[in-house]
Amino acid sequence: VPKLLLIVTPTYNRPLQSYYLHRLGQTLSLVPPPLLWIVVETGYASDETADVLRRTRVMYRHLVCKKNSTEMKDRGVHQRNTALEHIERHRLDGIVYFADDDNIYALQLFLELRGIRRFGTWPVAMLAQSKSRATLEGSVCNGSLVIGWNTNEKSKNLRRFHVDMSGFAFNSSIIWDPKRWHLLAPSSVRQLDTVKEGFQETTFIEQIVEDESQMEGLPHGCSKIMNWHLHLDAKRLVYPRFWKVSSNLEVV
Ligand code: UDP
Repeated sequence: VPKLLLIVTPTYNRPLQSYYLHRLGQTLSLVPPPLLWIVVETGYASDETADVLRRTRVMYRHLVCKKNSTEMKDRGVHQRNTALEHIERHRLDGIVYFADDDNIYALQLFLELRGIRRFGTWPVAMLAQSKSRATLEGSVCNGSLVIGWNTNEKSKNLRRFHVDMSGFAFNSSIIWDPKRWHLLAPSSVRQLDTVKEGFQETTFIEQIVEDESQMEGLPHGCSKIMNWHLHLDAKRLVYPRFWKVSSNLEVV
């Protein structure tokens, strides 16, 4: 039986939300099952999100996170933790991947995820802050062995692992059966709202692997880019006068 994929997506209502969720949903609908899309909102389950999900041909759960964070650096953190609690409580057995709604994913990525045993990682293409340069961040590999990291950081040695939130995936049993993986951490594996901007990924990963020897680089040689992190968004929506519709630009 192919492994279950647990795709975790924090989302919120904004002009391009429908576009993002449709695009991701359409990609996921092409992935051979079993796949569960765990979509998490803050506060309440919005009609806008429910409506897009209902129309995808993907098995999904629409969860709500009661904890809110107003800090920019904690975008999606509590929502991802809500998904992790759900996976732990129901002992969902599969590969967990944090797929933000606004990234672009190749179908191949989801097929590669099924080959992960403990922890898989790969390089992600992104737009640099200046938005005029495309750069790579993530693993440098020899076959499936992770031998180093591409990073755009000036202070190279600060972060232990140079991985984007969309550049790794792991076995869900690490969450509900850490002993199986010889993890000493007595508390639940979660994302932290106490860490500095940019440190979210590495502090999470440090809870589930000791070092590069416990990682698997994907695809072979980490030689291909499977997803793109572009930071493309529209903050404000201007509707024509007298036109009252939902808070995202919905497709028919
Ligand atoms: N997100 C959210 N609520 C917010 C801000 C962000 O649910 O108030 C979600 C967003 O939809 C995305 C993820 O959190 O799936 C990461 O957000 P964003 O892309 O803004 O962060 P970046 O990737 O730019 O760091």
